[in-house]
Amino acid sequence: MAKLYFRYGTMGSSKTLNLLAVAHNYRQQGKDVLLIKPQLDDRFGVQQIKSRAGLEMPADILVKEDTDLLELDYEGVDCILVDEVHFLSPAAIEQLRTISIKKGIPVICYGLRTDFRSHLFEGSRRLMELADSIEEVKATCHFCNRKSIMNMRHVNGVAVTDGPVVQLGAEEAYFPACYHCYEMQIAAAPVG
Ligand SMILES: [Zn+2]
Repeated sequence: MAKLYFRYGTMGSSKTLNLLAVAHNYRQQGKDVLLIKPQLDDRFGVQQIKSRAGLEMPADILVKEDTDLLELDYEGVDCILVDEVHFLSPAAIEQLRTISIKKGIPVICYGLRTDFRSHLFEGSRRLMELADSIEEVKATCHFCNRKSIMNMRHVNGVAVTDGPVVQLGAEEAYFPACYHCYEMQIAAAPVG
């Protein structure tokens, strides 16, 4: 059997850069790495796994809602790396768990722990329950020097904890924040 890993962090914690570095190391050793990401939309170029630092690699598999990961061919694969894992369903996480056991391939997942409302993503929850190893990829708060644990969402320059995930026509941005800064800004935001 091989292990299932969950490496979580806030936005801007270099999770994808970390993933790409692991992929690079495996490939330098002549090993076969499979890169997986959920298919969401094509705003950022669907096939690419892209870090904020500018590095990118094409994804091998895009997971859709009806994708059964157990049906794919893993012959010769030494390691599976998953980007944006928080967007996968609990069922997909369970399939990755099975693959690590049945196929003996380590699966390393990178993603967010919680959304801008401070709630666990469903995929992240299932990983917290099933992973052999849970590691934090640390980043500093955008507003002070504490460690960030929250993902703060700004819409038109104001921190929000509700509203649709995609708001058309609005100027939105996400920031890594410590709980202190998160709470201060949410409390200061106009109600309604
Ligand atoms: Zn802070």
